[in-house]
Amino acid sequence: MMSPETNASFAEIAAALQAAQNIVVLSHVRPDGDALGSQIALALSLRTLGKQVTVWNEDGMLEKLRFLPASNLVSCPPAEPVSFDLAVALDTAVQNRLGLAGEAVRTERWINIDHHPTNPRYGDLNYVDPTAPATGQILFELLSHAQLPIDTAIAENLFVAISTDTGSFQYPNTTARTFEIGGELLKRGVDVGRVSQLLYENYPRRRTELLRALLGTMRFEAGGQVASFSLSLAVAQELGVIPEDNEGLIDHLRAIEGVIVAVFFEELPEGKVRVSMRSKSDAADVSAICARFGGGGHKLAAGARLRGSLAEAESKILEAICDVINCHS
Ligand code: 5GP
Ligand code: MN
Repeated sequence: MMSPETNASFAEIAAALQAAQNIVVLSHVRPDGDALGSQIALALSLRTLGKQVTVWNEDGMLEKLRFLPASNLVSCPPAEPVSFDLAVALDTAVQNRLGLAGEAVRTERWINIDHHPTNPRYGDLNYVDPTAPATGQILFELLSHAQLPIDTAIAENLFVAISTDTGSFQYPNTTARTFEIGGELLKRGVDVGRVSQLLYENYPRRRTELLRALLGTMRFEAGGQVASFSLSLAVAQELGVIPEDNEGLIDHLRAIEGVIVAVFFEELPEGKVRVSMRSKSDAADVSAICARFGGGGHKLAAGARLRGSLAEAESKILEAICDVINCHS
């Protein structure tokens, strides 16, 4: 497989999409709004061209995003591999984060569209733009340049992709262009009040019960510059937590005055711990910290999976963060 250093043009990507008939659209395991919204938006647009489009994610569709138009397009991959003319990986920093969905694909041609700076450009055609705050923003540009349709259903999926990855247009990677695209999507019929309420004010009560349990474990290091909390398997089972409940809870730690790095530790089955990190300062690059433990992500939002107990992960990771932000000074 080629690893071109430069991005393919939107014209080249559009030509590859046009040339294929049977296309699979994929995104990363434990998907978020950007991953799923981008997948559905691209699939809907390609379907209007008469393409046969399959949309797989290892985890299937998230319950909380079922309100997305055409969310039923997303399914779990089958056990036996299937052949396609073309595969498109969206929002996926490394190819193996496609998980079982990637393993179920047989194809000669991969397109890789993403905004993670650590993306090694594993596609035959790559479009990796780390300045884009969401893969959904890149897709809006691609569909616009290629004059592919963006109807209301597609617009709503792109809006959710961009809104969720920018923290509702708040994070520092949000640009003037992001707001312009938001405006374009509203012009195409997105009802921002309705969509935002469905996204941010419609959680199951269980998720707030989880937040209560997490806050009970909250601790601070480095004079309050590092905040963390942890979820044990026992508590997760007691509350009946499902993986999608976790997303966004770390924001409660990041929101505290004086906190620079926020960390969420989640005990997983099979002796692993998932670590989620957020930073409020370019000087504390959490993707570099996570990379030391085999993970990655963005400067201000990253993650990793560690082998070992919750207590071991907590001490290793908190120590690594303290090295970076000079906790001992
Ligand atoms: P989250 O904390 O929301 O799960 O992930 C934040 C960011 O870090 C996302 O952009 C995600 O792609 C990246 N990330 C999370 N976990 C991992 C991991 O285990 N490996 C890598 N390479 N990236 C991760
Ligand atoms: Mn993303």
